[in-house]
Amino acid sequence: MSASVNADPAELEKFSELAHRWWDAEGEFRPLHQINPLRLAWIDGIAALAGKQVLDVGCGGGILAEAMARSGARVTGIDLATKPLRVAQLHALEAGVSGLNYREVSAEALADEAPASFDVVTCMEMLEHVPDPASVVAACARLVRPGGWVFFSTINRNPKSFAFAIVGAEYVLKLLPRGTHEWSRFITPSELAAACRAAQLDVRQMRGMQYNPLTRRYWLDGDTRVNYLVATQRPAA
Ligand code: SAH
Repeated sequence: MSASVNADPAELEKFSELAHRWWDAEGEFRPLHQINPLRLAWIDGIAALAGKQVLDVGCGGGILAEAMARSGARVTGIDLATKPLRVAQLHALEAGVSGLNYREVSAEALADEAPASFDVVTCMEMLEHVPDPASVVAACARLVRPGGWVFFSTINRNPKSFAFAIVGAEYVLKLLPRGTHEWSRFITPSELAAACRAAQLDVRQMRGMQYNPLTRRYWLDGDTRVNYLVATQRPAA
């Protein structure tokens, strides 16, 4: 990886180390498995995935990418961590899912190579692991065709998100391995909205994601204080 790439090698290593656990629905990535139907339905409800050309940025082991392909989209998953990508490829092969391919390339480099090539771009639970999230937002905006949709999800930065996303999720409930997230890297909705506006993406919808540890259920509502998702659209040409 060249020094100018917008990535933190320690973050990529963290995800590579756990790659073999990616598809264990009860393992370290359990939260991603659990939220997947919810976010898939939300994205599909807005962007109608069937038949669309979709890019999943920071796809990891492919939980969302594969689900979108099963929904009838043609999906390209990209990530900079080698092992999760290999796991994603192998899983797609074993599961016999078609219309899915994976590449080790940054969003910025792919935007130079293939601008305006995708109907839909998703970038979920990834921006908070990157040194310059605004650069990824701008790359996603260049990758989507005019009129297309770009979806982001990340974690807000405030005392409640420290208590819930770090202390609660990593130390008390042990939903995630310790050190998964660094609070200072979290992104407020207004920071994300500003990055979207600067990249000429119109923010269309923002939803919060909640978790009840007693029922172990996740749902979406209007409370964006901890986890949240944003739907944006590139204006039609
Ligand atoms: N988006 C997936 C995985 C989230 S985990 C999902 O929601 O199911 C975060 C992922 O971001 C990891 O796979 C990690 O390797 C990837 N990542 C971190 N920094 C990155 C970067 N600079 N470029 C691309 N992917 C990156």
